Amino acid sequence: MSGLSLKYIRKSYGDVRAVDNVSLDFAEGALTALLGPSGCGKTTLLRMIAGLEDPSAGTISLGGRDITGLPAHKRKFGMVFQSFALFPHLNVSDNVSYALTIAGTPRGQAAARARVLLDLVQLSAFAERRIGELSGGQRQRVAIARALAQEPDVFLLDEPMSALDAKLREDMQVELRQLQQRLGITTIVVTHDQHEAMTMADQIVVMSQGRVEQVGTPQAIYHQPENAFVADFIGKANFFDGVTEGGNVRLGGYLLQITPHANFIDGSHVRIAIRPEKAGLAGEVNRLPAKVTFLRDVGPVRDIHLDTPIGPMIVTDSDSGQPLRVGDTVTVSVPAEAIHVFPRVAGQAAA
Ligand code: ATP
Repeated sequence: MSGLSLKYIRKSYGDVRAVDNVSLDFAEGALTALLGPSGCGKTTLLRMIAGLEDPSAGTISLGGRDITGLPAHKRKFGMVFQSFALFPHLNVSDNVSYALTIAGTPRGQAAARARVLLDLVQLSAFAERRIGELSGGQRQRVAIARALAQEPDVFLLDEPMSALDAKLREDMQVELRQLQQRLGITTIVVTHDQHEAMTMADQIVVMSQGRVEQVGTPQAIYHQPENAFVADFIGKANFFDGVTEGGNVRLGGYLLQITPHANFIDGSHVRIAIRPEKAGLAGEVNRLPAKVTFLRDVGPVRDIHLDTPIGPMIVTDSDSGQPLRVGDTVTVSVPAEAIHVFPRVAGQAAA
């Protein structure tokens, strides 16, 4: 098998377009995160890939073969649900081997395979335990082992970490990613958590209102957001509305220098985004007078909230060490290359 491919996939529920014309490629062995706010259509898309929902239009292919109409049980896809959906009356080992025995694998062989998988997810010592006697993280590992039992071609996970507490979630993200890399299995993870997507994914698909906003590596999505939605959803950003003028952007009485931008003719209404860590209190370009309104010092970094003539701005400072107090007057500088410029969409509220 090779990669999974979606072409012009749509799903409507009455008037609701849950998924709207989505075309995507999932490379063999890569982990893709479907990321977006609640209701953007990521679960619906995953369920169509799994064969649990029929697309209203479009095709799904695996290794060049059209599988759009293939029922879920014939797809050889492993799935982990948000709730884990384990069988409470079976022990850990039987949960893992269940699908194999149902498919006709002799009991001994299925049990041996369960042992290998439980070893893989570090649960060998728990093989005889009941599901009710496990922690959330252990249950998740059982769900992962069970999904991998039939050596699936594609591994699908819907919000796999949402039942876990914050610390365990971080550990499991790393563990799951390492396991996925070791097995080299094509994997798709649905999440609304940008850190989870950034930690685990080779490729992130940012979705909004049933559509794909951007596809790229975590670095590309963060450093080269293609629109204001992506810049806002991934990481933090300060937004300002302005108008292009002679290759710069005018914000009230200030003209900010930007990197040459072929996309905008003079007089274009634009929205600019500045990442907090890209602006600083030292620097010679785009200097603005500012007043410190709030300080949040969390050890390695410090968020400096500023009142500037173009509006409020947050700057994240990691190394200046400059002593500061609320009420101080400072100068903030924004390098031209730190300014992302997007078209301002009609009807978009001013930042
Ligand atoms: P969440 O993170 O909250 O689970 P999501 O991004 O996974 O959200 P979906 O569950 O795919 O979003 O839902 C996308 C849209 O389709 C929503 O507006 C939802 O209300 C609608 N929808 C999903 N399933 C159905 C259904 N069976 N019948 C009608 N509408 C549905």
